[in-house]
Amino acid sequence: MKTAFWVAALLLLALSVASGSGPVQPAPKEEAIREPAPPAAPVVRRKIRYPEERATAAAPARAPEPRATPSPEQLRKQRIVAAYGNKTPREWGERVEGVRTRLDTTEPVIALTFDACGGPRGSRTDRALIEYLRKEKIPATLFVSGSWIDANPALFRQLAAEPLFEIANHGLSHRPCSVNGRSAYGIRGTGSVGELIDEIEKNGRKIEAATGSKPKFYRPGTAYCDDVAVKVAGELGCEVVNYSVLGDAGATWPREKVRLALLEAGHGDIVILHMNQPRSRTAAGLMEALPLLREKGFRFVKLSEYPLR
Ligand SMILES: [Zn+2]
Repeated sequence: MKTAFWVAALLLLALSVASGSGPVQPAPKEEAIREPAPPAAPVVRRKIRYPEERATAAAPARAPEPRATPSPEQLRKQRIVAAYGNKTPREWGERVEGVRTRLDTTEPVIALTFDACGGPRGSRTDRALIEYLRKEKIPATLFVSGSWIDANPALFRQLAAEPLFEIANHGLSHRPCSVNGRSAYGIRGTGSVGELIDEIEKNGRKIEAATGSKPKFYRPGTAYCDDVAVKVAGELGCEVVNYSVLGDAGATWPREKVRLALLEAGHGDIVILHMNQPRSRTAAGLMEALPLLREKGFRFVKLSEYPLR
């Protein structure tokens, strides 16, 4: 009798599971709700994967573009590197072949040039010197490096906008002008034609951004250069300009020595001085000498006012 009961009970249970009724009913319902989720998952995954597929498909199409069309500057750099890359310099110094050191004139004119070397060589400004030039309306050519520009952006734009001053290029990082890394005063020169082009051109573009044109005159950091490097500068449209009168020896001379050096200047001389050392005696010597030079009948001019030699 007991056995018959259990058989009947098991049969009933089996029937209720098969028909989906009875005490286990809620479970299939939950599954029915969860049921649509699995098909949704691949849709989500497809949405994530789709842009990735598009990105990887688009990447090879976009990437070669800049390589395929080099800029005119890049083409010129490639051409100059190809023409001068294997040439060996014969000269090294401040007055190698092709470097300009004087104005080509017999008129009583003197060109004052002021270097702003920047970086470890001084990124400050001799304000007293600049104020004196402004007050006395003395024109000058200012050779500024990229590091000095970066340290004095507002003053640089101001000076660049003043007609009294002409901005010239003193190199991006104030390095000697070399095609093989030769050093001067412990500063390593540019190591290749390509490095030299960057040293001149990248600072030329900084200056162009403020003045509207690339500077024509370039003075290497330390004023040292080799003869191949001078030709490379020429290919970039630059004249390498050094000096005929040493005015302050890197802003190290005392007032009296600066004064005497300036009083030696004559017709067509280019004087090298510094505007980046406010503690130097350069301004003091200058203030004593320039009125005397004016009394002697000399005028002060910018480099661009005369041809150079
Ligand atoms: Zn310098």
